[in-house]
Amino acid sequence: MPAIQLLQADWPAPASIFAASTTRKGGRSTGPYAGFNLAHNVGDEPASVERNRRLLASSLDFPAEFQWLRQVHGAKAHIVTRAGAPPEADSLISRTPGIALCVLSADCLPIFLSSRAGNEIAIIHAGWRGLKAGIIENTLAAMQTRPENLLAWLAPAIRSCCYETGEDLPRAFLDKATPAESRQLKSAFASTRKPGKYLTNLPKIAQIKLRNLGVSSLSATPQCTRCHPAHYYSHRRHQPNPTGRMANLIAIRPTPA
Ligand SMILES: [Zn+2]
Repeated sequence: MPAIQLLQADWPAPASIFAASTTRKGGRSTGPYAGFNLAHNVGDEPASVERNRRLLASSLDFPAEFQWLRQVHGAKAHIVTRAGAPPEADSLISRTPGIALCVLSADCLPIFLSSRAGNEIAIIHAGWRGLKAGIIENTLAAMQTRPENLLAWLAPAIRSCCYETGEDLPRAFLDKATPAESRQLKSAFASTRKPGKYLTNLPKIAQIKLRNLGVSSLSATPQCTRCHPAHYYSHRRHQPNPTGRMANLIAIRPTPA
C-alpha cells in the first residue's frame, strides 16, 4: 500500500493552522473506491473507510478530533465548539483548537477559511446548489471575524475544462444577481459549440462572491478533480458508477501542554 498523500493548502495562514486535502493515494479501499476513500455513504466497505479515517488521523502531527458533516447542498452553516455527530449542514465554523473540520468532496468545491490571526476557521462544501443558495454568505455572516480579516483557499474541484452544464446553471446565478454581479458572473460561464451548453467555472463563481463580500486574500489550487483520476475521485468522471470522496480538513493546532 503506497503512503497517503495530502495536498497542503498553499496560502498565507499562520503556522498554527493545519489545512489540507487528501488525494486517492494510499488507503485501503478497493474496486471503484480504490485508494483513500473517506466517505461512508457512497457504498464502500465501512471497515475500509474506518481504516482510512484512522490512517488520516495518525498522519497528523497533532491530536485532533474529527468533525464530519452531512452535506446536503444547502446553505446552512454550523458552529462547532466540540466534535460530535455530523450535523446536516454545508459548512463548519470553529474557534476551538484540536478539532479538524472536514468536508468530503469529489468535484464539488471545498473552500477553506481562516482568520489572519488564526483564531477562527471554517470550511465550506460548495457545489453549484450551495453557492446559489448562499452558503458562502451564510458562513461569513456566522463567523466572528470580519471578511477583510479572512484568508481563503480553494481546494481541488471540477474546473471549467470539464464542467459542462446546460443553460439552467448560468440562468440560476444570473437571474438572481444584481446587474453589477451579473456582469462579473457572466465570465464564469463560457459558451461552447453545442447550443445551450456552457463550461461552468465553479471556483470563479466562489471567488467573485468572496471578493464581493470583502474577502481579498484568495488563493486557489489549479488542480481539476476530473482531469486527474490517479489523484482525485471525480463524481462526473465515474458517473453513473459510484466513486469515493476526498476529505478536506482544517484545524487550529492545539498548543502543546
Ligand atoms: Zn478538468
